[in-house]
Amino acid sequence: MKPQTVIVIGAGVGGIVAATHLAQRGLNVTVLEKNSHAGGRCDRFSCEGHHFDAGPTLLVMPLLYEAEFAALGASLREILDLQRVDPTYHLAFDDGSQLALTSDMKSMQEQLEAFEPGSFQGLLRYMAEGRRHYDLGMEKLVNRDFRNATDFFRLSNLPLAFKLKPFTRHYRNMSAYFDDPRLKSAFTFQDVYMGLSPFEAPATFSMMSYTELAHGVWYPKGGMYSIVEALVALAQRAGVAFEFDASVERIDVNRDQARGVILTDGRQLKAEAVLANADLPYVYRDLLPQDGESERLARKRFSCSVISFFWGVDKPYAKLPPHTLFLADDYRDNFKSIIRDLDLPANPSLYVHAPARLDPSMAPEGQDTIIAIVPVGHLSENGEQDWAKIRDEARQHVFRRLRSLGTADLEEHIKFEVNYTPLSWRKRYNLMKGSTHGLCHNLTQLAYFRPHNKHSRYHNLYFVGASTHPGTGIPTAFVSGRLSAQRIIDDLNSQS
Ligand SMILES: Cc1cc2nc3c(=O)[nH]c(=O)nc-3n(C[C@H](O)[C@H](O)[C@H](O)COP(=O)(O)OP(=O)(O)OC[C@H]3O[C@@H](n4cnc5c(N)ncnc54)[C@H](O)[C@@H]3O)c2cc1C
Repeated sequence: MKPQTVIVIGAGVGGIVAATHLAQRGLNVTVLEKNSHAGGRCDRFSCEGHHFDAGPTLLVMPLLYEAEFAALGASLREILDLQRVDPTYHLAFDDGSQLALTSDMKSMQEQLEAFEPGSFQGLLRYMAEGRRHYDLGMEKLVNRDFRNATDFFRLSNLPLAFKLKPFTRHYRNMSAYFDDPRLKSAFTFQDVYMGLSPFEAPATFSMMSYTELAHGVWYPKGGMYSIVEALVALAQRAGVAFEFDASVERIDVNRDQARGVILTDGRQLKAEAVLANADLPYVYRDLLPQDGESERLARKRFSCSVISFFWGVDKPYAKLPPHTLFLADDYRDNFKSIIRDLDLPANPSLYVHAPARLDPSMAPEGQDTIIAIVPVGHLSENGEQDWAKIRDEARQHVFRRLRSLGTADLEEHIKFEVNYTPLSWRKRYNLMKGSTHGLCHNLTQLAYFRPHNKHSRYHNLYFVGASTHPGTGIPTAFVSGRLSAQRIIDDLNSQS
């Protein structure tokens, strides 16, 4: 019997993972990717011997990676050459104080006590809560497929409403552990990864700072793109076919099913199932017939965006740590400005990454490769944001911040610059509103309330990736890929 065919739209991490699971189960899988190579947001480019991870720079939640590579029949440690980054981040505050987040508890104790006497005990209690949230959250929310309302609204899930503190705001919850606002921000800034402000994020997300300190932040040799290379090799070994520069124009549907896809080059491909890895709100708006759902999705909350600067510089900055985070005093206003005003804050918090500190091959000898990421609002509906002006302001903020750490001459040593604004994110990966993390992870867009991995009307159309369950991030994209592939396999089995 001819194997059943699945078309995957997009070669992002979720798409490749799902495709591999499906091919390993004997299905005939083709991945269509509009760009010239795989990876989606987990992208890479090189210029004059400088190598840049264009999206993710942090391998977090290593236990999830281990489990998900194992589910694909591979070993994380054999496939990737990993090194632990410790201290994880160097935090720099407006008043000149610094904090190196490290798993070395003696060093943490000394540093924290200098900020606020007694705060080390606060950290230990906060980590204990983070661990509870991580363990429960992984088991009950992330690794679960909520196919029906009853999978979520069940008596056994009721204690989660207390144990995971979903109704307590993360920042407010920090008062139970620290008084010093710098420490409150040091252990909540990770909420930005979820597209959220700590002033509105559920306290559940203490799981993020917990996993970073307890399980570590890691770096694969060759950069984050080596994860994509490993995944593509696994997919090809399983028999997945990839077509690059293959942009899908629309999904071919009839009343209640997807028949295949139509590409921009006019080709029509048929399939028993279609799995969309392209960002979900974009798929509803651009690839499916309009039935009101697209407008409903557009009204949902989207995560912020970022302006990224990629610099090749002609001298090494050996003192610049791999991950530096500048956290602004006006922490609350920063989030207000980004999330509510869709703007660049007056004094933005920002992140600088120097990958050659971890892997010298990321820059030519005697030179350096530097990435700066400045969070900003996503694209507004009225299109009035002046991105060239905002980008230029953001660049000056990076130089100003680096000067405060003693790196005063970076601007003079830049050989070339590549930069991405929200317009670039939209264009490169079809991300609606240029929102780098897709739909954000507030309470009404989490777990059962997040868009499901299957379309409610077209019974053989499925979704995978950041704006679907369980959410944004590379490890979660692995989970999303596995869950959506299982769903397809279960449905096809039940039909045959
Ligand atoms: C700046 C930045 C920093 C980040 N930092 C981290 C980090 O440090 N750690 C971490 O774990 N995560 C991080 N993330 C998040 C992580 O990169 C994403 O959550 C994850 O890569 C999303 O994967 P996905 O499966 O949703 O696919 P996507 O990456 O969204 O890929 C979807 C693919 O579909 C393709 N596509 C779209 N439309 C079409 C079409 N019509 N036809 C064909 N193909 C199409 C796109 O080109 C793309 O390749 C970061 C993201 C960004 C942007």
